[in-house]
Amino acid sequence: MSDCVFCKIIKGEIPSTGIYEDEVVKVFLNINPASRGHLLVIPKEHFKNVLDCPDEILSHIIKISKKIAKLAKEKLGADAINIANNSGKEAGQEVFHLHFHVVPRYKGDGMRLDFISKKDLKDDLEEIKKIIIS
Ligand code: AMP
Repeated sequence: MSDCVFCKIIKGEIPSTGIYEDEVVKVFLNINPASRGHLLVIPKEHFKNVLDCPDEILSHIIKISKKIAKLAKEKLGADAINIANNSGKEAGQEVFHLHFHVVPRYKGDGMRLDFISKKDLKDDLEEIKKIIIS
């Protein structure tokens, strides 16, 4: 897409600090990192998010994300890794070209994935299950 910042990165029209690429994906450092070595794994073809991306490409992206996560642990000394994806504006997606965040985590870095922590929701789990599988 002509006005997509990540498509422009793929085409080399805007610079990026790439660390890996193959026929399907490119991996580069986030310009506004959450931690030291925060990387983005993106498909070369434009998809908005996980929902419109073919399964084979998604599988490749997650495989490469794992490879990159291992590299971050080995080379940067990360203690742990978050692999995250925001699909849709309300989920926090700001760049509408599919990307997975590979975020190295360091002991004591204090970052919290607050949205994943338990909330005071009193949802009926059986009711939700029925809705999802019906
Ligand atoms: P999201 O909120 O999941 O859409 O995240 C988009 C991410 O892309 C943010 O963390 C930005 O810092 C990152 N980003 C935006 N533009 C660039 C760029 N030109 N190079 C590298 N990272 C970028």
